Amino acid sequence: MHIEKDIVVSIHYRLNDDQGNEIENSFGNEPMVYLHGHNNMIPGLEKELEGKQPGDQFKVSVSPEDGYGPYVDGLKQQIPSEGFEGLDPKIGMEFTADTENGPIQVRVLEITEEFVTVDGNHPFAGKTLHFDVDITEIRDATPTELDHGHIHAGGGCCGSEEPEEEEEEAVVEEAPAKEDKPEEGTCCGGCH
Ligand code: ZN
Repeated sequence: MHIEKDIVVSIHYRLNDDQGNEIENSFGNEPMVYLHGHNNMIPGLEKELEGKQPGDQFKVSVSPEDGYGPYVDGLKQQIPSEGFEGLDPKIGMEFTADTENGPIQVRVLEITEEFVTVDGNHPFAGKTLHFDVDITEIRDATPTELDHGHIHAGGGCCGSEEPEEEEEEAVVEEAPAKEDKPEEGTCCGGCH
């Protein structure tokens, strides 16, 4: 068995920038798990993983074009501070901003009295990424995972397939209303 489309892949990786500074490191933590061949992984890394097996190790340098794309100046914007009333913005904070092109994820770069500077670029945009990768495990994807195009870490849920628990509601009439949504991060890697 080797890595190809529709295979679920677990890897450990160390990520350094051009100066050799470590940006991320999964060793000692949970491995990164993704569904191969469904655009869940940057192209430069997915290309290298193709055909490999558990136990394989490799190093690869990924250009912005094969990584998180070029840095786009227009995605960095100054927003009048009034717009942040009650939000207490802090440097590094991430949130979703509504823009003409739909919602995008932005990070707070700078805060002054008048303006909050936010950046909608991915933190790794414009960077060449140097990966050190260990492939730890691979498995076949489940039919539901293939249907959704991503892994289900907790054994299969997206919220929608959970059966309704009507019985319980009838018994605990006086209990305050409780939301039955699955906890974020336990399902679909938190992607939806
Ligand atoms: Zn799903």
